[in-house]
Amino acid sequence: MRKLLLSLRGVKRIYTSGEQKIEVLHGIDLDIYKGELVAIIGASGSGKSTLMNILGCLDKPSEGSYEIDGVSTQTLVSDQLAALRRNYFGFIFQRYHLLTHLTAKDNVEIPAIYAGANDQTRSENAKKLLERLGLGDKTDHVPSQLSGGQQQRVSIARALMNGGQVILADEPTGALDSKSGKEVLGILKELNASGHTVILVTHDPSIAAHAHRIIEIKDGSIISDVTKEETTETADEELEAPISEQGALQSFAATFLRFKEAFKMAWIAMVTHRMRTLLTMLGIIIGIMAVVSVVALGNGASQKVTNDISAIGTNTISIYPGKDWGDMRANKIQTLKVNDLEALKVQDYVDGVTPTVQQSGTFHYDSFEASGRINGVSEQFITVKGLKMEQGRFFDEEQVKSIAQVAVLDQNTKDKFFPYEDPIGKVILLGKLPCVIIGVLEKQDSPFGNQETLEVYVPYTSAIARLTGSRYLGSITVKVKDGWSNAVAEQLITELLTIRHGVKDVFTNSSDTILKTIQKTTGTMTLLVSCIAIISLIVGGIGVMNIMLVSVTERTKEIGIRMAVGARKSDILQQFLIEAILVCLIGGFLGIMCSYGVSIIFSMFVESMAMVFSTLSIVAAVTCSTLIGVVFGYLPAKNAAKLDPIDALARE
Ligand code: ADP
Ligand code: MG
Repeated sequence: MRKLLLSLRGVKRIYTSGEQKIEVLHGIDLDIYKGELVAIIGASGSGKSTLMNILGCLDKPSEGSYEIDGVSTQTLVSDQLAALRRNYFGFIFQRYHLLTHLTAKDNVEIPAIYAGANDQTRSENAKKLLERLGLGDKTDHVPSQLSGGQQQRVSIARALMNGGQVILADEPTGALDSKSGKEVLGILKELNASGHTVILVTHDPSIAAHAHRIIEIKDGSIISDVTKEETTETADEELEAPISEQGALQSFAATFLRFKEAFKMAWIAMVTHRMRTLLTMLGIIIGIMAVVSVVALGNGASQKVTNDISAIGTNTISIYPGKDWGDMRANKIQTLKVNDLEALKVQDYVDGVTPTVQQSGTFHYDSFEASGRINGVSEQFITVKGLKMEQGRFFDEEQVKSIAQVAVLDQNTKDKFFPYEDPIGKVILLGKLPCVIIGVLEKQDSPFGNQETLEVYVPYTSAIARLTGSRYLGSITVKVKDGWSNAVAEQLITELLTIRHGVKDVFTNSSDTILKTIQKTTGTMTLLVSCIAIISLIVGGIGVMNIMLVSVTERTKEIGIRMAVGARKSDILQQFLIEAILVCLIGGFLGIMCSYGVSIIFSMFVESMAMVFSTLSIVAAVTCSTLIGVVFGYLPAKNAAKLDPIDALARE
């Protein structure tokens, strides 16, 4: 009893090109039995390949039915057809159809990858098959390093990888010299003898003569079907299938394996087009670099400001007369008095307090003369402002009480009047007030830049008594004790002064507020530049999409080959998607690296401030690049998966 394997009934294939319909196969009836060696011959254009493609489930009949082992193919979905191509059929093409950038062994392994075989089995079987076909020493050669005959043998190994019960060979010797052709024919006969059903298409009668059964096609119809001899019954001796889907890894492991392979393929594709990939990445690199750098810069700036402010004493509150900044009457409002100062001094939350009474004036020393600002302050001024002495000392409470005529200079004043001399003990004339210089302040790094004015500090009592003549203070600065919040202290100060004055006629300004304002400003900056960066990322993403579309077009043939040996649509989709994501991720990574580079360069030029990278911004950058890959890679990947295997294979 011969077992019926493949059965065609009334199969037609109609190609539509535009308005025109061309019927290539006109109702083919054909039965192929297990273990047969069938030759299909006919002139070029008679429909042999069309028939073979239908037999191998690469193509579907337009009309009629096709049953494999009693199962109709009509109802099968594309994944099931892919499984048939992968596990049941082994295709051998005239032009070998090997993937040019993979080695012989890698080419042979492809069907097993899609079947989910594990690395080791796959690798061992591929080697065994190549050895069996006399290519044991060529496993690591790429197709261009192999002769036509050798390439065809690689493709035979590939056809056998998952078992290849039915070998479909479409003009396998058509591109070979007669010697290699004979070898290939010999292999096919051997395979047939060991139990494979072989269907061979040829236009060469001398090759067909080797078959047991010869079917002749002319213009899409079978005109003769001659069986020379009964097939020697290899009977029920089952074929050993090196890898079958049963023996393959299950679900998760198999998915992971396919993912890993898709990743490898994507990597190879990227490396093959290094320059192009890099240019494609540029948009992503620039975008990510901009975002990460700007965020780091913003972080650095606000950290710097925070540090500066905590150096001045984080917790200072300044009290000014009037309702708010720019109150027109502020100058006329006479409200802050010396006894307010005394009252504040004894509050629980106050660590130190100093008034400021300012007056511009001309300073004289020796023959030098310059204008500057005279500041009347208390002995607590340097603690409140977080300043240090460079030379000498600051005046004490005693000197304030006794209205002493002493002065402390800032660096600018010292440089101006005493570039080479020691100023301590010298007498400087401040307006009409002669003072003994007792100290010099250390230069202060102000977050608001260094002022070029000359500042001199004298006891406020002296300033009031001898310069302004007014009983009122310009402002009061309070240093809040540790453990008290600025907001609470601000509230209490306002309440205290309102009670004392009977009306709210002062306003306060906390160093906290300044910090917040600065943080808000850098926040706005970050947002602005981020917007620009996002545009760059979108443009980058479109670049990736564009190049992926090109890549799909370029690699249509590869997609066709993969589908012919059993790749599912999802495998193809995954491969291209991974490639897009990989491009974006590497772009993102390079962007982050560039950003670090920027920070190094930045640190060379700007000493006072450093860029601060946060883990969050790095994570966000990576997520962002992945998303771009998914979003912009999806369309090209879907286009690739949508391709019809036959159309794809036909593309050169
Ligand atoms: P063979 O393999 O016997 O040389 P084919 O099966 O490749 O012949 O082609 C049979 C006929 O079908 C040819 O006339 C060819 O022009 C036509 N044909 C093949 N593929 C297509 C297609 N995709 N669209 C339109 N016509 C096609
Ligand atoms: Mg053909």
